[in-house]
Amino acid sequence: MKLILEGKAKKIFQTKNKDILVQYFKDSATAFNNKKKRNFKNKGIINNLISSDIFSYLTKNNIKTHLIKRINSREQLIKKLQIIPIEVVIRNYSAGSLASRLGIKKGQKLKNPLIEFYYKCDALNDPIINDEHIILLNLANKKEIERIKKVGLKINKLLLHYFRKINLILVDYKMEFGFLKKNIILADEISPDSCRLWDAKTKRSFDKDIFRENKGNLLKSYLEILKRLNIEVENV
Ligand code: C5P
Repeated sequence: MKLILEGKAKKIFQTKNKDILVQYFKDSATAFNNKKKRNFKNKGIINNLISSDIFSYLTKNNIKTHLIKRINSREQLIKKLQIIPIEVVIRNYSAGSLASRLGIKKGQKLKNPLIEFYYKCDALNDPIINDEHIILLNLANKKEIERIKKVGLKINKLLLHYFRKINLILVDYKMEFGFLKKNIILADEISPDSCRLWDAKTKRSFDKDIFRENKGNLLKSYLEILKRLNIEVENV
């Protein structure tokens, strides 16, 4: 298979079918726009399992995603999309850059879920943008932005429920979308690398903040999520 893209935590390969790709999960973790890097043995396996489970759950609930199926411990078959270079962040509680940018106390529950857009551009440090910037940059039109917001909020409801059932609070997370013809499809991954997840009782982090802030054993927490989800672990 031909490698067509290598990101910070994943590789994308072309299959013989031009419409189908393989998404491979690496063990590397990066933070602060690649300034902090480390490998965590088998993290890719855990994230592949969690993200596949989440995408399958969303599919069952009528969300269109790029996932066709997980094919082994590190790889998924996915539909080839035209990726929209926007990181769509939804927040249910204040944390991270929202807390530091606007001074909203970390841990404060937001009245309504907050949607933010960031322009995916390493050279510019992924700046926060609004609907008008998206239109100006020709990334999506008004109708498509509305669709992304609507689908995003529907996904948020489903994910809040998904994590509540395993005693985790979904604080915030990042999604990416792509076009398949005119349809807007959920792409990339949703995993503890791209979410903030706090234990409902202790408020302890079960996500990449453990690595960002050097606060504990990242793999142990990611494995605990798998355990709570009742997902059997292979080769870890
Ligand atoms: O850093 P910030 O508070 O803006 O991040 C919001 C959410 O988006 C966090 O869950 C973080 O893990 C996720 N995120 C991500 N990839 C980025 C930026 C943020 O997964 N490049």
